[in-house]
This record gives sequence, C-alpha cells and structure tokens, in this order.
Amino acid sequence: MKFNNKNYDYLIVGAGPYGSVFAYEAAKRGKRSLIIERRATIGGNMATHKEHGINIHDFGAHIFHTDNKEVWEYINQFTEFNGYINQVVADYKGERYNLPFNMNTFYQMWGVKTPEEAQAKIDEQRDIGNVSGAPKNLEEQAISLIGKDIYLKLIKGYTEKQWGRNAVDLPSFIIRRLPVRFTYDNNYFNHRYQGVPVDGYTSIFEKMYETDLIDLQLETDFFEHKDEYLNEFSKIIYTGMIDQFFDYKFGELEYRSVRFESETFKSNNQQGSAVINYTDSETPFTRIMEWKHFDKKGDDGYTILTKEYPQDWDRTREAYYPVNDKKNTDLFKKYKKEAIKFGNVIFGGRLGSYQYYDMDQVIGSALKAVKKEFRE
Ligand code: UDP
Repeated sequence: MKFNNKNYDYLIVGAGPYGSVFAYEAAKRGKRSLIIERRATIGGNMATHKEHGINIHDFGAHIFHTDNKEVWEYINQFTEFNGYINQVVADYKGERYNLPFNMNTFYQMWGVKTPEEAQAKIDEQRDIGNVSGAPKNLEEQAISLIGKDIYLKLIKGYTEKQWGRNAVDLPSFIIRRLPVRFTYDNNYFNHRYQGVPVDGYTSIFEKMYETDLIDLQLETDFFEHKDEYLNEFSKIIYTGMIDQFFDYKFGELEYRSVRFESETFKSNNQQGSAVINYTDSETPFTRIMEWKHFDKKGDDGYTILTKEYPQDWDRTREAYYPVNDKKNTDLFKKYKKEAIKFGNVIFGGRLGSYQYYDMDQVIGSALKAVKKEFRE
C-alpha cells in the first residue's frame, strides 16, 4: 500500500492545534499536507460539539487566554470570540470561595477587607509551613504564596487528586499558573485577551482545512504503519507522545489522564457557574462544568453538565497532562536528544514536546516551527 501517492510535502500526525496550524501555514506557502488523526474528531483536545444548542468541550473546559497579540490575531482569523471571562467557584465541603486567590477569597476565608489585612494574614500563615529558602515543591510554593488555610482548603485536596500524588512530590510551577491578587477581581487569568469561540473550537479547524492542499484521514493510527510513513514522507510533523514514537525505549514518560461524565438536565441553570471546583480530597471529581454558561447560549429548558474525574494514565488511556517533575523532565531530555537525530521529523504540541502548554503556547510554537521550516 502506498501512503504518499499524492506527493505530499508533509505528513502531519495529529489533527490538534500544532499540526493543523502547520498544515494551514504550509498550504498558504503552496505545500501539500496529509493529516492523519487516530481519533474520529479534529482539533485534538480542543474539539467541541453542539447539543441542545450548547457548545460542549469534548475534552474538558478550554478557555482561550493569552498575552500574545500575534497568536490572538492569528486565531481570530478563524473564529469570533465571545468575550467570556473565566470565573471559577471553589466548593470545600459545602463552603464556597471565589478563585483565583483574590480579595474575595481572602474575605470569605478570614473576613479581612483590605489588602493590608490580607497580606498580614498571609504573612502570619507563611511561617507555619516551616518553609525556608526557595520553595522546593508545590506545597511549599503554595504556602509561601497564600498561606496554610488556603493551601489546606483550596489547593491540597484538589491538587493531590488531580495529579495522583502528594503535593510535596509535585513541581512548584504548577500552582504558579493561578494568579494571586490583592484586588476584588475573580478573573481566573491575568491575560489581556480571553474568550471562547462563538461556534466552538472545532469550527476553527474546519476552516483551516478548507483548501485542496490539505487532506485529512481520521481514525488512522500512525503506529500501524510507522515504518512505511517514515520511508515515504520526506518530512513529518509528529504531535503524539514522544516516548511512544521511540517505542518507549528509555522507559515511559508519566502522564495524567482524565475522564468525563456528562448529564443533561431539563432546566435552564443548575449550578449558576461555568465551573465549580471541588477542592476536598474525598469528592472523586475535581470540577463540574455547566457548558451553557461559557457562552450564554443553548435551547431553552436544557442544560448539560460534565464532571471531570482525574485518573491514572496507562497505554490504553488518553494522555492529557505531562508530569513535568524532575524525573520525567530528565527522561524527556533523553528522548529529545534522540528526536534531534531525526532531522526529518518535527516534534510538537503538548505531547510531542512533553510540556504543560496552553492553547496559545501550542499555536505560538507551531508558528515558530513554520518560520524555521520556511526560513523566514
Ligand atoms: N489548583 C488547585 N485548586 C483549584 C484549582 C487549581 O489547587 O481549585 C491547582 C492544581 O494543582 C492544578 C493547578 O492549580 O493542577 C493548575 O490549575 P488549572 O486550572 O490551570 O489547571 P487545568 O485547567 O490546566 O487543569
């Protein structure tokens, strides 16, 4: 069987944002790509579909947020954004708090009303954690940022179920994803540009593929014919797991997986928030999304909620999060060294570069790869 019978310039493995941006940009430059995708859907983990007029995110809530103007303008070619600003409520054993950590949270936690009072409370709580020097792990980082009470109620339980390990065994950068601010501002992100596409994310990818220079094959597993693909295509963009590409020869990288349970309700509004995080350690899910609140759309009388359950990863499950601790980072470096030897394969995306990337970072890195490839 011939795989490159159309003289494609590129084989792109994975129809997620990295591969799709690359294919789109290559087409703009007159180059032909074949995209193969193991799943039946496009868009990678950004995929969405519509039910009862509501945009559902198939692989968990995706809010686009960035400070990168180039990436923002880039993605806006393919869609209009709805101006949604993410606000998350935390539930700790029935107590409700605003996230991220801000004056509302501090008021709810301690009754403090001014930034000075909040700062004093945090300073007092910092000493309790026996933390000295630079924080060595997520627990130390969290306590030094916002003190012990918030750590114990809003971070420890959520983090340990999300990652399946103790907070002392996790890298500190993970908690620095969340803002800490001394204003009454519940915006989950600090970025200048934010929103959700009005027609869902999948429509972005459909637009990208509206050219004769891109062919798409769904439900096609690269690993079923890896050697043939490598022989027949002079250039490959690979966005799957980097350790799988090398047949796990140095050992498996660790990933975290999640699974989703959705339910449709005959009501207009069940939880009153797009996202509620359950931050205790006993509740088995981390968060519940109520999709209609992301874009205030949907048929009257219906709402759909999805519970997100973290789970261990194994080869039969989808890899969602790389675990960027020291052990895995060292192992990744070995694979990366090996990857450099494959001059005709570009590794990219969250899985190909084993990075806890957000959507804007994936798109930014794809655009960078395009510039390098076309020497611009
Ligand atoms: N986190 C937490 N409590 C929360 C929300 C987040 O402790 O209520 C921590 C947790 O460790 C999580 C990290 O912050 O993995 C990053 O959260 P984010 O919402 O960015 O995670 P994502 O949406 O990428 O899963």
